[in-house]
Amino acid sequence: MNRDGRPRAPGFAVPPRIGARHAPQVSFEFFPPGTEEMEAALWSTIERLAPLGPRFVSVTYGAGGATRDRTHATVTRIERDTELRAAAHLTCVAASRAEVDAVALRYWNAGIRHVVALRGDPPKDTGRYTPHPGGYAFASDLVEGLKRVADFEITVAAYPEVHPEARDEAADLDNLKRKLDAGATRAITQYFFDVETYLRYLERVRAAGIDVPVVPGILPVTNFAQVKRFSAMCGARVPGWMADLFDGLDEDPETRKLVAASIAAEQCRVLQANGVDEFHFYTLNRANLTYAIARILGLRPASGDAAAEPDPAG
Ligand code: FAD
Repeated sequence: MNRDGRPRAPGFAVPPRIGARHAPQVSFEFFPPGTEEMEAALWSTIERLAPLGPRFVSVTYGAGGATRDRTHATVTRIERDTELRAAAHLTCVAASRAEVDAVALRYWNAGIRHVVALRGDPPKDTGRYTPHPGGYAFASDLVEGLKRVADFEITVAAYPEVHPEARDEAADLDNLKRKLDAGATRAITQYFFDVETYLRYLERVRAAGIDVPVVPGILPVTNFAQVKRFSAMCGARVPGWMADLFDGLDEDPETRKLVAASIAAEQCRVLQANGVDEFHFYTLNRANLTYAIARILGLRPASGDAAAEPDPAG
């Protein structure tokens, strides 16, 4: 028998029992909805995930600042109408410093105290990033600017597989340090699928003297084709074993969901077994996968599980 009271097969390593570990801290990321239907789907997702007691939830800022007003409306509604702490993503793209500062001040005045500060990517099909003349050039500049506006809590991005535009691994780590020196106190990583990639990165981060939380960003994948396309742009490697698992499931969304939940839960369980106790979920505004994975990791809703609502987003 092992410590869980289960028989141990001689010669086999037994992973910890599912749900047996100390429940981790989590945060959830949403994107601002573009239609009334998407808005309804987001709010049912928020209602389902909120009882899990996330440390915070965050709302993205569309490429090129295209969702400025929608991001603001979503973040402030979460802060006003729920018990959740909301964080606003903010980028440097396509805006002057004065414009970005004004957005930040509006957040501060609406009670938002946490910003996820990013450089941002250029709007689709507009080519390489070029800083706005008179804007913040990089995320570290934005962090500095935000701290001048008000004493925000600031989270920044980190890249276990190195940001695609970075000169090299060392330059990318230097950049993370710059963002922290400017006042950020936490990083969330780009998603990754090989757990070792993150664990090795964390070793490099710690060896560089960085001691803030570098929270793994977890993307439960259901649309594999889309993730493959997106990963090619953002520098996240899609391993061959994952392509194999989704192979032949294009017309089988139900099995894809089960496979996706298994992959992400396995990834998080191995991270947990290696001492990771905080996770950030890229929810894509869908509750069910994230909810199931969070349960597997040991989280329970404060008031017990409600009957599962059908996931309107699929
Ligand atoms: P930076 O930290 O500024 O780095 C960008 C690149 O520039 C890196 O290669 C860096 O090494 C290099 N660099 C930095 N400073 C200098 C310098 N002084 N000189 C030369 N090179 C330099 N995008 C959105 O548009 N909206 C979002 O809401 C959003 N949310 C995200 C959330 C998370 C958790 C993550 C991981 C990413 C998110 N992104 C979002 C994507 C992000 O905007 C892109 O990955 C972008 O390409 C880089 O942003 P950054 O903040 O990491 O940039």
